Amino acid sequence: MEPAGDFQAYPAASELIALQDDERPRFWVTIDTEEDFDWAAPFARTGFRLDSVPALAECQGFFERAGIVPIYLVDWPIVQDDRAVDILAKALRAGRCDVGAQLHPWVTPPHDEVVSERNSYTGNLPPDLQRAKMTMLRDAITRRFGAAPVVYRAGRYGLGADTATMLAELGFRCDTSVRSGFDYRKGDGPDYRGAPLHPWWVATGKGAVLEVPVTTVFGGLLGAGGEGVYHRIARGGMHAGAALARLGLVERIALTPEGIPADRACRAIDIALDQRLPILNFSFHSPSLQPGNTPYVRSDSDLDRFYRWWDAVLDHLARRGVVPTDTAGILALAARKAPGNSA
Ligand SMILES: [Zn+2]
Repeated sequence: MEPAGDFQAYPAASELIALQDDERPRFWVTIDTEEDFDWAAPFARTGFRLDSVPALAECQGFFERAGIVPIYLVDWPIVQDDRAVDILAKALRAGRCDVGAQLHPWVTPPHDEVVSERNSYTGNLPPDLQRAKMTMLRDAITRRFGAAPVVYRAGRYGLGADTATMLAELGFRCDTSVRSGFDYRKGDGPDYRGAPLHPWWVATGKGAVLEVPVTTVFGGLLGAGGEGVYHRIARGGMHAGAALARLGLVERIALTPEGIPADRACRAIDIALDQRLPILNFSFHSPSLQPGNTPYVRSDSDLDRFYRWWDAVLDHLARRGVVPTDTAGILALAARKAPGNSA
């Protein structure tokens, strides 16, 4: 029997894709492109809005002017929306963005499961149902955008033991669902504490899939020992973690404009570069592009701050010699270590 590849069986350090001496680090902008819903309410199949969809045009324009090819990880309601397809397909055809798949199982057919927190993590669904939803989403993207998606993100970072094999079967080449440094076990989700920050290949019986984890670093006075302390304290509740951050002992910093001030993000970039990460993987959610949908962008001035955040961060990246990349660039960089290649 072929070994079943699993994204959560982390590889040895020698298997990670490292930055070569003459190579510049890259950054990737990944956008969870999805419906607007109440993040504090229970999951529901209906009742979401798509009010933030027109704001994708402003977002795309911003990144185009900055010379960046972002990837929109679109979910089922977005793929059904003509306005979204209109904005993104045009940019995709012009080579100015990529489109990948993001699976929010509670709004993706077939609807054969009970909608619950546990079932909001795609990887918790029975394998046949998970595969059926992934297939529906892939085929809808292919039909609507004229190109099959090769990048996948599980909604709520919910990978399962079978996800890698399914992705390979369905023609995906790259997954970006591992959110290193986060533990979702409280809601029956995955535990990504101790997950690598470098990309790596996962071999399955159906082909190899590249994992490109979402970047989160640990900073603070405790240095490299901080992550372990953070996780031990975090078990005691959020307040202890916040106190650690206030004291400057240890802080967890995700590369996102959502809830992370620009100066902290720039510090995180420096930490990631010290670790010689080949790819800095930024992420945010498209509902944040319109005030009122997410806890992070409540007002017009928040939205203004959102784009100023990118100005500051892009400036810092340029100063540090980090260059933008896209799906093709990442797969090309990783090819030297692909299973079957000697490297
Ligand atoms: Zn999502």
